[in-house]
Amino acid sequence: MGEKVQQLKTQLQQISDLGNAMAVLGWDQEVMMPEGGSQPRARQLSTMARISHQMATSEELGDLIEGAAAEVSGADYDSDEAALLRVAKHDYEQNMKLPVDFVAKLTQITSEAQHVWAKARANDDFKSFEPMLEQIFELTRQGADFLGYTDHPYDALINQYERGMTAAEVARIFNAHKPALIELIAAIGEVEDRVSDAVLRREYDIDTQREFGLWVIEKFGFDFKRGRQDISTHPFCTNFSRNDVRITTRFYKDYLNPSLFGMMHEAGHGMYEQGSAESLDGTPLAGGTSLGVHESQSRMWENVVGRSRGFWSWAYPELRAKFPGVLDDTDVESFYKSINTVKRQFIRVEADELTYNLHIMLRFELECDLLTGAVKVSELPQVWNDRFEQFFGIRPPNDTLGVLQDVHWSAGLIGYFPTYALGNLLSMQYYNTALAAHPEIPSEVASGKFDTLLTWLNSNIHQHGRKYTSAELTQRITGGQIDPAPYVAYLQEKFTDVYGLG
Ligand code: ZN
Repeated sequence: MGEKVQQLKTQLQQISDLGNAMAVLGWDQEVMMPEGGSQPRARQLSTMARISHQMATSEELGDLIEGAAAEVSGADYDSDEAALLRVAKHDYEQNMKLPVDFVAKLTQITSEAQHVWAKARANDDFKSFEPMLEQIFELTRQGADFLGYTDHPYDALINQYERGMTAAEVARIFNAHKPALIELIAAIGEVEDRVSDAVLRREYDIDTQREFGLWVIEKFGFDFKRGRQDISTHPFCTNFSRNDVRITTRFYKDYLNPSLFGMMHEAGHGMYEQGSAESLDGTPLAGGTSLGVHESQSRMWENVVGRSRGFWSWAYPELRAKFPGVLDDTDVESFYKSINTVKRQFIRVEADELTYNLHIMLRFELECDLLTGAVKVSELPQVWNDRFEQFFGIRPPNDTLGVLQDVHWSAGLIGYFPTYALGNLLSMQYYNTALAAHPEIPSEVASGKFDTLLTWLNSNIHQHGRKYTSAELTQRITGGQIDPAPYVAYLQEKFTDVYGLG
């Protein structure tokens, strides 16, 4: 390895270390911190964001990247060195576009805003959150201008989470499967009494929920020697290294879904991080390549595996034994149907597989309109409810169940939502490719074996970290780009069966 490459690696590692230390503070904020910590924590994170940004935009780093690029020119595209240079150069150019004062200000405001939002949501009080949200959208618009775009400010934002994606492309992908979703949801609406999730809303002891969920995700392959699980209001996955991956969940004693499927979901994210190659750890190449690809992993384990008939043919007897008396009147087939209940309802994170992407489409359209000014922040509650009603045929009775439900905007995460829907689409494209290589996967899942699938994901996706962009990775795996057709076909087959549609 050349001298400049070595120096560059050292420099980048320090920036990664800072980022990971900030992630520890972020994890603590969500999992452990008392309310009083909110303001000092916002300041601490802002200070660190400033230092990190200064390092990531220093002239010295720019010179090192240039020098190292000369040393690795001609290196194999797939090599760690060539990939490191590509990613370092991209990150550097992106960071250089954002002034340090802007980054510090955004970090400070969004850290504070999350507390304001949480209170507003609890009190159904949009007005108390409105001024901060206005500031956040204003800053986001500035950020988009700093980053630069050709067609729509949204392009600059989504590019941060899903490199190369644009608003126009998202709209095309969404429009290509929206009618099929609406049609299937309507058909199910005619016979919605055929399936009910009542059995999931019985009383489930929380400690036992935890035990069962941990057992499942350990079987999936989440490595507890290199990770742990805690409780937080909003489940998430973060990591400070591939060898220290944190996932969180939440429990309700009268509703089994959030902890059970939430744990599978976060474990899917966690296994992606744990599977990133050791050689990439502590470098900018470590970890998931994009949010869409990340979500493809969580959704695959949660839905394609975790909500499959095969999985429950294996896991149901164990679940039933864990909760004596609770499931005595239910067999595996009706349990399978109940976990696949389709319901038009207000909360995105509780949405079923079929309606989920519609929730995202609503947010995507609103974000675009907020950025262009077509919708004002003060109009949001009204516009949200109107559009929600157009999409779903039901109207949120308050803002807690409407515009205040998601943490994202308070955290400055705008342009982020579409990656959830793209992840759903990718989950099926990747799964189908794995299945073509290993037709035995479903029968293995039905006997509680997950290593063939996990190994395939490891070698085709996880180990590469950020070496390939989402588009490059998808091209390598599927020979094409994001395509909603396989996901729609999967939904049609699954829910036609679950609801006995003709
Ligand atoms: Zn997720």
